[in-house]
Amino acid sequence: MAKKAIVLFSGGLDSTTCLYWALAQGYTCETLTIAYGQKHEREVHAAREIAQRLGVKQHFVTLNLPWLASSSLVNKEQQIPEHDLNEITSGKIPSTYVPGRNLMFLSVAASLLDAVGADAIVAGPNAIDFSGYPDCTPNFFKAAGQAINLGTEHGVTQGVEVLAPLMDLTKTDIVKLGAKLGVPFELTWSCYNGGEKPCGKCDSCKLRARGFAEAGVKDGAVEK
Ligand code: ZN
Repeated sequence: MAKKAIVLFSGGLDSTTCLYWALAQGYTCETLTIAYGQKHEREVHAAREIAQRLGVKQHFVTLNLPWLASSSLVNKEQQIPEHDLNEITSGKIPSTYVPGRNLMFLSVAASLLDAVGADAIVAGPNAIDFSGYPDCTPNFFKAAGQAINLGTEHGVTQGVEVLAPLMDLTKTDIVKLGAKLGVPFELTWSCYNGGEKPCGKCDSCKLRARGFAEAGVKDGAVEK
């Protein structure tokens, strides 16, 4: 029987590539999309559209945590910062950091995994072209995987995997991998600012643009 994976799926470039990767690996996938008040909640619509196209089972969760307004990704009074590329990857934690986001997301995913009897959680953190978020590092994901194996029924009875296939890839590698897997880039949403079109100025837009440019691939989300 095919193994089952819970894919943490925001509808962005990285998590969509993860979903296509997991399907290509032979996993039966169920997606988990979490709204937490992000300004770019539009990504949730992108997630819905992509998962529908693939015919995979979807789960949607809303976290109502008022204190997440400490992040400029959530707080509507606070502007999303605009950095130069070398500043983005300097390792300094920017104001867009959402407190404990991946710890919460992995906990929710672990609960779902245990309830439906899945074998793996797939997530798309990346520690190369990223914004220095402490919950996107290999050490954190390794420790979270150990915790989930120790603290879930499936973990203690048969063992589960927490997979982060993009962890060591550059954005350029991710675009190349996505292109190979047939990711519908035009449907994905990465921009931190919600809106009609990607802003082109936020950290996420800049990293994405460099990835596509270096990979020599056209970004259908920007040019449509
Ligand atoms: Zn943007």
